[in-house]
Amino acid sequence: MKPTSQPVRVRSAPSPTGVPHVGTAYVTLFDYAFAKHCEGRFVLRIEDTDRSRSTTGSEEAILNALSWLGLQWDEGPDIGGPHAPYRQSERFGIYKKYAERLLESGSAYRCFCTPERLAAMRKAQQAQKRPTGYDGLCRALDTDEVQEKLDADTPSTVRLKVPSEGQTQYEDYIRGTISFKNPEIDDQVLLKSDGYPTYHLANVVDDHLMKITHVIRAEEWLTSTPKHVLLYKAFGWDLPAFIHLPLLRNKDKSKISKRKNPVSIEWYRSKGYLPEALLNFLALMGWSIGEEKEMFTLQEMIQNFSWDRVKKSGPVFDLQKLDWLNGEYIRSLPPEELLGRIVDGGYTSHGDRPGELLLGILQLVRERMTTLSEFDALTGFFFTAEPYDADALTPKKRDLAFAAKVLHALGDTLESVKQWETEPLEEALQDFCESGGWKRRDVYMPLRVAITCRRVSTPLFETMEILGRDECMQRLNTALEKCRTAG
Ligand code: GLU
Repeated sequence: MKPTSQPVRVRSAPSPTGVPHVGTAYVTLFDYAFAKHCEGRFVLRIEDTDRSRSTTGSEEAILNALSWLGLQWDEGPDIGGPHAPYRQSERFGIYKKYAERLLESGSAYRCFCTPERLAAMRKAQQAQKRPTGYDGLCRALDTDEVQEKLDADTPSTVRLKVPSEGQTQYEDYIRGTISFKNPEIDDQVLLKSDGYPTYHLANVVDDHLMKITHVIRAEEWLTSTPKHVLLYKAFGWDLPAFIHLPLLRNKDKSKISKRKNPVSIEWYRSKGYLPEALLNFLALMGWSIGEEKEMFTLQEMIQNFSWDRVKKSGPVFDLQKLDWLNGEYIRSLPPEELLGRIVDGGYTSHGDRPGELLLGILQLVRERMTTLSEFDALTGFFFTAEPYDADALTPKKRDLAFAAKVLHALGDTLESVKQWETEPLEEALQDFCESGGWKRRDVYMPLRVAITCRRVSTPLFETMEILGRDECMQRLNTALEKCRTAG
């Protein structure tokens, strides 16, 4: 690890183009955990230099998603900070100035090639199966030629003048020394012809001005970093530390994509994954806390954070694992808190019902819940009787007439139960079976379906207690009626 005496400053730098991506959450989690581990600052910077793809709606969604996850930034576009503004579109003047500096020092040059020429060049390179990249035509222009073209208002870009020999290298915390041969590095455009910066220039200038000490980002940027290193050198600035995290992958090892996995953090939120479960899951993808411990809090991750436990190979995004974790988190919450999350999060349309009733129902389903949004589907029959076919009432190898007989006999027994509570109900049913010589499965299935409208449901007697005597008797009658009309 590179020793550093400066206070640690880390940034997440998402581009607001599209949905808030799980990949952003994953990298931001590592930014956050490392910054907090070092008692440093965590900065959020919006990289909206791509005018055609960036939207304010997307920026808002990213901020909301990261807040929901609890990855709160110390400086950012909405709260400001000592290096404001934190939105690149508000910093265009700065990049222009630095591009000019590079032109003056000879580390960059103006390129007047037209888009048509560049396209033709690329096509020819592809046809010859050569690596694509700028051929350096405008590197040879002398000062007078450049001035002439500028005077004639010829559109131009600014390109990085990559040394034609030697190599560029840097240390990656996870991967060690990474080196690239300079002739293989493209003369990257830094400033576009409309005066807008590219990612590379804006990113390096901002990381420097915002005093970022550790650049943590996904593996896909590994090949951009040598260009950045050359820029730091051209400016005469110290390099930050670089860390390239392994990319999240689909099962087939390709980079995680929406065709194979849900990628929007909003999707996970709307399904009712708990933020702490999603964070735990994302942490597990790239890191381990040791001793095969799979459930840990963000706080534990912060305390125990170290780069040597970051995995080098691409973690496979396994939704089953997330489902398992989410279920565990759901069950670890106190019932009142769990109910609060379901109601306040808008996961139920029964939020206006009495809390005590909802809590009673919740106790019966929390063992089976994977996500919060399942609550209504698992419990709908508590609130209104649901439609079902009369056939559902018939026990195995029996017919509707048999079901009607059971339900009728049960009606009398249930009528006489004095205390409508789980235990007396269960006892009454047991007596009923024993004294009448009924097989349990012949009795329980029709009763279960009559009461819950389903063949698979919450525990029967607890459910009957919650529904109450009147509702249960009414449902029993409805079931009897169904048998009769269908039979
Ligand atoms: N704007 C880049 C992104 O969207 C940031 C990459 C970096 O962290 O340097 O991923």
